Amino acid sequence: MPLLAPIRSLGLRSSLRPAIRRLRPAVETSQICRYASTKHPKNFKPPTQDELEELRERTIEFTRREITHDVAQATDHKNEFPLDMWQKMGEAGLLGVTADEDYGGLSMGYQAHCVILEELSRASGSIGLSYAAHSQLCVNQLMLNGNEEQKAKYLPGLVSGERIGALAMSEHNAGSDVVSMKMTAKETDGGYLLNGTKMWITNGPDAHLIIVYAKTEPEAASKGITAFIVDTTEASGFSCARKLDKLGMRGSNTGEIVLDNVFVPTSNILGQINKGVRVLMEGLDLERLVLSAGPLGLMKASLDCTLPYVHERKQFGVPLATQQFIQGKLADMYTKYRASSAFTYSIARAVDESYTNPEIRTQDCAGAILYAAERATECGMDAIQCLGGMGYMNEMPAGRIMRDAKLYEIGAGTSEIRKMVIGRAFNREFGMR
Ligand SMILES: Cc1cc2nc3c(=O)[nH]c(=O)nc-3n(C[C@H](O)[C@H](O)[C@H](O)COP(=O)(O)OP(=O)(O)OC[C@H]3O[C@@H](n4cnc5c(N)ncnc54)[C@H](O)[C@@H]3O)c2cc1C
Repeated sequence: MPLLAPIRSLGLRSSLRPAIRRLRPAVETSQICRYASTKHPKNFKPPTQDELEELRERTIEFTRREITHDVAQATDHKNEFPLDMWQKMGEAGLLGVTADEDYGGLSMGYQAHCVILEELSRASGSIGLSYAAHSQLCVNQLMLNGNEEQKAKYLPGLVSGERIGALAMSEHNAGSDVVSMKMTAKETDGGYLLNGTKMWITNGPDAHLIIVYAKTEPEAASKGITAFIVDTTEASGFSCARKLDKLGMRGSNTGEIVLDNVFVPTSNILGQINKGVRVLMEGLDLERLVLSAGPLGLMKASLDCTLPYVHERKQFGVPLATQQFIQGKLADMYTKYRASSAFTYSIARAVDESYTNPEIRTQDCAGAILYAAERATECGMDAIQCLGGMGYMNEMPAGRIMRDAKLYEIGAGTSEIRKMVIGRAFNREFGMR
């Protein structure tokens, strides 16, 4: 099926999970390749293109059923996440794509994660963003850095959708320069007391489990940061000071969270003490890669709302789509989508297929999201322009798509920082720091 053909209504009401599971027959023990991948789940086998296409179809079925135009519009207009969506996504098997099957995950890797995030974001940018914060920033970070006990304790609830996950690095005065964070973690009997605030935390107002970065040795700067698993349901002193009112991604609940003498047991240190930057960096490249699928979905959404409109609406006696200025915009939107998609999926495929010794290039992961994010905002703007007056009306999705897309030039590191990261990666290859 051509990628941008209208979505077929498959009419299937069954949950995605059994269907996706059928896609991934259990690997015969004799076929299991023993390897030491630190980035993929146990027994990971890269998915075939057929499996990925089927996964895309199944995700589209899910979004057609559960994230309709009305749901996406209401999420944006009310600035409220539909909380029952977590359980629905969990039941459908969407929440643990990169997690071990032992914990309920799909063990399908990063291409699959991109496919799901792309299609969720196509239906609703903000539901896609909250999904990514949960399944990539929290679930995948736990997969990559958690010990067996932590994974067994926390992953099943996150994968089933019973519990909501988040990750908290940024603070008011520590965004791009995140290692200058001020939150402290002081050792006490059996654990640490965390004090400080974190800003702009996706899912912060709802999260049950947050991976929080804090300074265990403030004077050691970047070498004194530790990552902690904070169970907000057990953490007295934890609060969400406010839910933030945003330009876009409305309904992806973003909060300022406060930790006031929150006790975290030693068993909830993620990774090693004072090695939080390693945990942070471990996740960043893959986070940039997977998140680049959010703008892909928004570009597709721009085309979804623009193509039918300009073919139906007539001005000067002919459909808008026959005017060269409009054709030029459609061509730009489509080409930007296709180029961004090829970039993201080629990198995701390289990561999955090199699973025995994962090859993750910083400049590729940062480049994929840098490119896709800027193109998605442009596509959103073009969609508004093609729709004219209706593009400016909130009853149409074009404005929402443009507002949602802009976030990807800021969140998870800004475009400017991504360019610095790419430049520095080249510097390192030339032996410079
Ligand atoms: C909706 C939303 C959701 C978010 N979700 C999360 C989350 O779940 N968890 C989390 O921890 N954080 C989250 N963030 C925070 C996000 O990662 C930061 O906003 C981002 O890293 C930028 O930091 P800042 O806002 O402090 O901007 P600043 O660092 O103050 O930057 C302001 C401007 O200056 C530019 N700039 C900064 N330094 C340089 C430089 N050295 N050279 C050139 N230009 C520079 C930036 O590119 C930007 O254009 C979220 C943010 C938003 C808006």
